[in-house]
Amino acid sequence: MPGRLNRKKWWIAAAILWALILLFRMMPLYKPAPSAPFSGPYWYNPYKEVNPEGRWTRANFHAHSNAWGFFTNGRKNTVENILSKYDSLGYDVIGVSDYQHITQTGATPYIPVYEHGFNILKTHQGSIGARRVYHGDYILPQTRSQKQHILNKLRERTQVLVLNHPDWMGGYSPRDIRFLTGYDCFEVLNDYWNSEDLWDVALSSGKPAMIVGGDDAHNVFKQTDLARDLTLIYTVSDTLKPKGIYRALIQGAAYGVEVTRQMSRAQVIEKRETLDNMPLLQSCKIRNDSLIVTLTGNARSFRFTGQNGKILKQVAASVNGIHGASYRLQPDDTYVRVKIALPDSSHIYLNPVMRTVEKDMKPPMPASRKRGLFSIFDK
Ligand SMILES: [Zn+2]
Repeated sequence: MPGRLNRKKWWIAAAILWALILLFRMMPLYKPAPSAPFSGPYWYNPYKEVNPEGRWTRANFHAHSNAWGFFTNGRKNTVENILSKYDSLGYDVIGVSDYQHITQTGATPYIPVYEHGFNILKTHQGSIGARRVYHGDYILPQTRSQKQHILNKLRERTQVLVLNHPDWMGGYSPRDIRFLTGYDCFEVLNDYWNSEDLWDVALSSGKPAMIVGGDDAHNVFKQTDLARDLTLIYTVSDTLKPKGIYRALIQGAAYGVEVTRQMSRAQVIEKRETLDNMPLLQSCKIRNDSLIVTLTGNARSFRFTGQNGKILKQVAASVNGIHGASYRLQPDDTYVRVKIALPDSSHIYLNPVMRTVEKDMKPPMPASRKRGLFSIFDK
């Protein structure tokens, strides 16, 4: 019965083809995003608008409650507990970021956030201003294309897309970071991991990743889970609106603070006092090719870092401390960021000034592009 045999073969071929299509559908392949340093005749300064009329507000977008799932260690750790602890610490923006779930908090302003990812190597993303949850992930160690695919899916569903603790457990390798694109922020500061070196990899390959700092708190009754890594957001109006917060994060009118190990163990009252007395960024300006940074109080040192993480200049204080420092921008500088050590050894991490093609425009993230065959599928 040759006819039947042929039909059987045809069905097998069709099944294999369909399986391949499904496989391709699951595994889109992306071209590496362009990885060229920032360039252009202008400097983009994220702090251009910062002036004494505005204020810096404390924010944390990374804290897990017991409201959802079984991941959280703290048994009590309710949404109310998180809100009240951070309120006592003087935070105005308090996000509850549960895994794969947007938790309603009743906080004002209410910022819908969640943490995405349930793979084994902690390749996680923060979704700030989340519209909806993306339920997909790749469980096993992810290829760069898979990471890009997840970022693209999240991009459609959120206002601000963050790479969470990117250097932790190799969640994102330096190679990934050179070629991934399409996110807004880098969680450089996280209670579990500091990703400063990896941040320089992103910036050096022309990815305008803006900083956030987050506690990643799982139990707010443990002192060391609270107010160790924070984001300060610049605001000019008295009422903080979600839209303004998203804009500040994306444009870079924010900076990161990392408190000392000693302070991380302190009680809430002592932490509050330390934060209240901590010098703030007063201004960051570019004048006649000089980058000039001023604080409202004294610092111990200012460090200017550029392309490939190279230290360009370090200004250390004499006994009394200094409240500002400057650096002459060189023709071959592509970005310059400033890290400030305060007298108690807490650190302030400013966003970089970056070279840009268009005046006052933040250099854009390159578009992600699929490899030929995969371009027939949607994003
Ligand atoms: Zn995480």
